[in-house]
This record gives sequence, structure tokens and C-alpha cells, in this order.
Amino acid sequence: MKKILILLSALLVVAGCNKKEVDLTTTFEKSNYLETDDYEGTIAYAKGLAQQFDQVHYQSIGKTVLGRDVPLLIVDENGYTSPKKIRKSGKNIILVQSCIHPGEPNGKDAMFLLIRNMLNDNINSDLLSDFSFLFIPVLSPDGLANFSPYNRINQNGPKQMGWRVNAQGLNLNRDYTKLDTPELRAFVALFNAWQPDFFFDTHATDGADYQYVTTYSMEDFGNYDEGLSQWLDDVWEPQIRHTMQDLGIPITRYIEFQPWGDPTASLCDRSFAPIFSQAYAIARNCPGVLLETHMLKPYKDRVFSTYQMIVETLKIIRGDKENFKARLAQAKKNDLTLKALPINMQSEMNDTIWEDFLGYHFDTVWSEVTGSWYYAYDTTRPERRKTRRILSTRPEKTLAVPKEYIIPVQYAEVIDLVKAHGFEVNELKSEKTLKVNTYRFSNVKFMPVPSEGHSRVAHCDVEEITKDVTFPKGSVVVKTRQNGVRLLMNLLEPEMEGSLFEWGFFNDGLQRVEYFEVYKMEPMAQSMLAADPFLEGQFKEWKATFPKDQQPSQYEILNWFYEHSPYCDKNYLVYPVGMTR
Ligand SMILES: [Zn+2]
Repeated sequence: MKKILILLSALLVVAGCNKKEVDLTTTFEKSNYLETDDYEGTIAYAKGLAQQFDQVHYQSIGKTVLGRDVPLLIVDENGYTSPKKIRKSGKNIILVQSCIHPGEPNGKDAMFLLIRNMLNDNINSDLLSDFSFLFIPVLSPDGLANFSPYNRINQNGPKQMGWRVNAQGLNLNRDYTKLDTPELRAFVALFNAWQPDFFFDTHATDGADYQYVTTYSMEDFGNYDEGLSQWLDDVWEPQIRHTMQDLGIPITRYIEFQPWGDPTASLCDRSFAPIFSQAYAIARNCPGVLLETHMLKPYKDRVFSTYQMIVETLKIIRGDKENFKARLAQAKKNDLTLKALPINMQSEMNDTIWEDFLGYHFDTVWSEVTGSWYYAYDTTRPERRKTRRILSTRPEKTLAVPKEYIIPVQYAEVIDLVKAHGFEVNELKSEKTLKVNTYRFSNVKFMPVPSEGHSRVAHCDVEEITKDVTFPKGSVVVKTRQNGVRLLMNLLEPEMEGSLFEWGFFNDGLQRVEYFEVYKMEPMAQSMLAADPFLEGQFKEWKATFPKDQQPSQYEILNWFYEHSPYCDKNYLVYPVGMTR
């Protein structure tokens, strides 16, 4: 027996020795707060945390086009790694992402410190009894691997940093709906599996100079779930401002002068479409905030202010636990009964207040190089001044929520995206002709240059029509009574900013594919008029809509007849997705 015990304890010692001590001092700390890790260093530190602590689990959630892993750390007090178990344990699931723009790595260093502090140094460790963390240290690995001191021209450190876009040249913070990148595909799959309760996205901002180390952006304009927006507005915002002020880090909302960079202009808040991270999260009923540290503040201050914003936010959630939980549950219920959605929020330029702004003194300076004036800031002269802030926004219009969308099988990419975002679809087992509502487009204009690799629609007028449409076998029906209905509508309602239509997924229908010859169309127009007196009346009416000195051209007139003939392409300028109301 004794022998067995000795053997057992020897085995335990060996097992214990397998857990090699890891150096948990971050590169950020070792470098006197001037440096951050490159991609390999980031992965090594993340793996080191997982090796050192049973509460930390490392996994790869996907691979970039260059084959690099997108890392995830799951941090849970009990060492659980499944959403089901963690949910059951009653913890709120907090998703923190950093390095979506790898030139802005403050969130990565802040979270590495927080995880290390909670588990190793008993600092903020009480948070672990209420929260489990999903932490993505770098969402854009190829961007971080593109490591250089010259990646952010305006920014004050760290010494080297990653590049803004991924290896495909795409900005991941425009990719939340169209999912062109494997990085965002991985993110959305993670989101589907975990349905987090709160989301942080961490950045460093460009723009004017001012005293605030950190600003924040959130969605509280009335186009996302009201209860969640109100929670951010009424509970989170006043408390976080107060607490951060007490910590000596005054904060304000994201600073966007209209026009950009003009400190004499008004500050403008605006709602973002779900092509952006924090808007995507709340469109799926996960409230969140975008943390934007100021590019010119010392890197140390940027990291520590991000750290504090995360910690203090979690304390606010904990302090309002029951209400927060109830609002999350209510938001999911609300989605199942949503009747109408306000879209494309516009700033109300006349609705402004004067508020205190912590700026720096600035002068207008003449440049001999450009022969122009510019604003030069004097950071030795901080000043509190009154600045106008645009307060409210109004929707461009309100859309009624349809019962369902029907996407033709030909639009396989669109069907794939709807599924990738976690929506349930029902496939048609056979061809079906249905009377559906859809849209007819006119005045379609494209953006003059490609955007994120897409030929994007800049403007179009939309008229709702009813039509019999034959949907081939394999087309899908998507019911709108699903959690995340705002996101679903944002994908499929062509007028919404960031819709798949706007991104160019339906550009084929915006191009005419058959043409008439003038010498064939002229006699046909004559016979059409002769055969149909009603058509003649319509023709006259149409012509009367043009001013006398701007009558339609021969081509435009013949085109009118072509469009009233049975030869006209019925799908031209008609949205192929059907709706039932
Ligand atoms: Zn950024």
C-alpha cells in the first residue's frame, strides 16, 4: 500500500512538473509600455496563458487566407469551454475582440493584462464569478503579421504595429454582413455558437486632437432594440462617465466633427449599419461598445484606459445584473413580434446642445508647402470649451417587417450568407409560383470607385410592386420571426445601408441584357399605338411629364415602347427576392 502511495505521489509530482512555469510578463510591460507583440508573440502569450491556467482555454476559430490561425481564449472560472455549460453556470458571456485593425492593438494588451491579473495576481479576480470571457486577441492575423513602425502615420506608438486591412486588402470592420473574409466568417460562427451577452471592440481613432484618452460609440438611436439601447443610455453611459471621471480618465462619445477634423464645427453622433462590429452585435441583441482610444496619447495610457473601460463596464453590468438579464431576454422576445423597422438614421442637424468639451488650444496656421491654412493644436494648452453636439437622429423611413423572404436558388451566395449569420431557412422541395411583393428600382447610381472590392450601389429609388414569381426548387424561404430580425432585414432590404443589394450582390439585375434596333422598333411603335388607344393615352401622359424644352430622345421614346411590349425583360430592375406580407 505504501509503495502504491509513493508511486502515486511520484506520478503527481511528474504531472505537476508538466505544467511548466510561463513568463507572464507581457511585452507591453517589459518594454516600459512602448511595445506590443507581433503575431507570433501574441499567439505565444495567448498559449502561455492557457498553459499556465486551467481557467484559460486556447483554440483556433479559423484560418486566414494565408493560413494563420485566428486565436480565441475562453476564460471561465470553472474551466468550462462549452457555451451550454457556461450559460448553465449563470455567467454572463463577454466577447472582447482586438486587432480587427492590427495597427490599434491597445485592446490586446489590455486584455492580456486583465486575464493575467485576474488569474495570477488576484486583481479584478472577483469578475470571474460573474463573467466568462471570449477573447479574440487578434481578429486580423495577417494584418498583425504585417508588422512595422510605419503603419499608422498619425499614431504615437507602440513602436511597431500591424496593418489596417487583411491579406485580401479588406477592412474587416466593413465585412460584418457580406462576410468576404475568413476572419469574419470565423467571428460570425463564434457569435452563432455563443450568443454573447455583451461585446467590446477595441480601436484607436484618427481625427482631431483633444484631451480625451478614450471615447466610445454605441447604438442608441432607436433603430435597434429599444430596451438594450436604453440600457446603454440610462444605465451604462452615466455610470461609466462618472466612474472614469473619478479615475482621472474623463471620457466622451466618439468624436466626429462635421466636417471631419474641423474643431470649430459641431460634433455629430451617428448610428452605424451592421457592417460595423458594435452595430452587428446589437442587431443580434448583444449590446456592445466600440472603444476608441486617441492615437496621439501615449500607448501606455491607451492600454490602461481600455483596461479600465472594460473592467468598469463589467462592474456596471454586475451592479444591474437582473435588469440587464431581463432586457436581454426581452430583446429576443421583441424580435418575434417586431412590426416595423426605422432605417437609415439621419442626423438632425438642427437639434443640438452646447456641451463642455476637453480640447486643446488651436491656431490656424499658414502652410508654405500647400499654400493653405490648417488647424495646429497646442497640447501644452488644454482648454475646456463649449462645443455643439448634434443630439438626435431621425429615420429616413420606416419599413414594415414582412412575414417572410423568398430567395431564388440562383442567388446561392445570398442564401449562403443568410445561413452563415445563423438564420433558419426552409428549402423549396419543388418549383413554386407565388404572388409576392418585391421592389422595382429606378435611378440606380453606382459609387464611382470600388468599395471593399465591390461595385456598390450609391443610390436607387424603390417602388414596392406585386408580382407572380416562379421560384425554382432549392430556393429558400426565410421567416422573419427569428432572433436577429434587424440583421436579416439589413441583409435583404435593398434600401438599407449595408444591404447585400447595396454591396452589389444583385448587380446582375441592374444590367439590360436585350436590345432593340431603331429601324425595327419605329414601325413596331406605330403599330402598337394603332392597336391600342389606351396605350396612346399613356404615351401622351408620359411625354407630358417632360418639360417642353427637354422632350425625350428618339431612343428614350422607343425604349418606352419596348418596355410596354411583351419583349421587355421582366426581371430588369426588379429585385429577385420576394416577400410575403
Ligand atoms: Zn479601428
